[in-house]
Amino acid sequence: MDFLPIFVDIKQKPCLVVGGGDIAARKASLLLKAQADVTIVSPELATTTQALIDTGDVSWLGAPFSDDLLMKYTLVIAATDNDQVNEQVYLHAKMHDVLVNVADKPELCDFILPSILDRSPIVVAVSSGGQSPILARQLRARLETLIPPTYGRLAGLVGRYRDAVKAKMSSIAQRRRFWESILQGSVAEHMFAGRDELAEKTLQSAITEQTPETLSTGEVYLVGAGPGDPELLTFKALRLMQQADIVFYDRLVSQQVLALVRREAEQVYVGKRRAWHSVRQEEINQLLLEHAKQGKRVLRLKGGDPFIFGRGGEEIATLATERIPFQVVPGITAASGCASYAGIPLTHRDYSQSCIFVTGQLKDGELDLNWSALVQPRQTVVVYMGLAGLEILSQQLQIHGMAADKPAALIQQGTTSDQRVWISTIADLPQLAKQEHPVAPTMVIIGDVVALHDSLMWFKPKKTG
Ligand code: SAH
Repeated sequence: MDFLPIFVDIKQKPCLVVGGGDIAARKASLLLKAQADVTIVSPELATTTQALIDTGDVSWLGAPFSDDLLMKYTLVIAATDNDQVNEQVYLHAKMHDVLVNVADKPELCDFILPSILDRSPIVVAVSSGGQSPILARQLRARLETLIPPTYGRLAGLVGRYRDAVKAKMSSIAQRRRFWESILQGSVAEHMFAGRDELAEKTLQSAITEQTPETLSTGEVYLVGAGPGDPELLTFKALRLMQQADIVFYDRLVSQQVLALVRREAEQVYVGKRRAWHSVRQEEINQLLLEHAKQGKRVLRLKGGDPFIFGRGGEEIATLATERIPFQVVPGITAASGCASYAGIPLTHRDYSQSCIFVTGQLKDGELDLNWSALVQPRQTVVVYMGLAGLEILSQQLQIHGMAADKPAALIQQGTTSDQRVWISTIADLPQLAKQEHPVAPTMVIIGDVVALHDSLMWFKPKKTG
């Protein structure tokens, strides 16, 4: 950063603008907006500067700039069309320790004037450090559409009740949570709809209704993070991710998704290893409970959908027993994500009228599945966690009547830029795995729909398989 963005209080402070042209008028108006005591020094005035003087809000010294002037001022802006004068102002400002800005000369500036979006008391300042003021202005214009004028009134309302809320809620965390709920809830909605009075009444009753109990209870958000591509998150997932105090995430949650969690939130990795699965699960349940009891907003972020082979049900069972509030946000499950990004429709009028999701996780080296239910005509079988048991899967499906040449796909790291897809048959899958060494997470899809991959494949990952 070449300049530190700070907002300076210059109310009633003497500020000098050197120059009598249009640029000087713009600078003087800006200082005036911040309620400075503005003087223009210039032997002559353009109509714009003259108009400012005529309002009586700006004083005028009808003389050329002279060095001794500067002693009286807090800051000075040089905006003449004469480089020599501008430089003279700069040098003398330096001598007298007065903050100086020379219009359009970033190298002669102690401070620069950013492009401003004024929704007072909300003020957004955009600066390009003098490199491209036009780009800064364009950015400001984009922000303008994002931040409607109502934000100013909303901030004003919050400002009026800050002290009341402080008096009622002692901890910073409680207040933050309170204000977040207000600003995301009906108070803000009323304001945006122009119902200012109703907004204020709603806010007043929200403040009175807060009890120590409601303020100290945390909440758990069990959120599906989808299969990897961050654009597959839901709006709701993103909103809750942005307001969490702590996040517990799995191995399956991609780095890109994690980067969207509120920056101040503590991040805790609780990825599971197969061997001590059940113990760890207990621990995770306990962690969620403990942190929610401390009043935190706990984000439990899981790959795919939390209710599909995600143990989501177990994690919230403890919370339900303990009466801790929670929300569950579905995510795009790996079956949907992988199928879409591999161009394999899970159902298709011509090939498949049903689709079944199973887990291929081994129990004591065995695969305990309802094989005859899997070997049905016109059905797609999707196997989660199927890599370790691929050989048994292939054998058992054939023993139970599946044709050896039934198309089968392996999709590794689906929906990510590292996605790889291998197409084979149910009989050849184990051999393929031996040759290609797919790694977790990999999805197995079996069925005639797999053959559509050749013609429907659309997603081009960084690395191709
Ligand atoms: N709750 C998750 C599934 C967890 S089980 C969901 O709804 O998607 C973990 C298994 O999901 C992995 O072993 C793998 O088979 C599959 N999986 C998850 N993400 C995947 C991805 N991006 N690509 C391929 N398979 C994936």
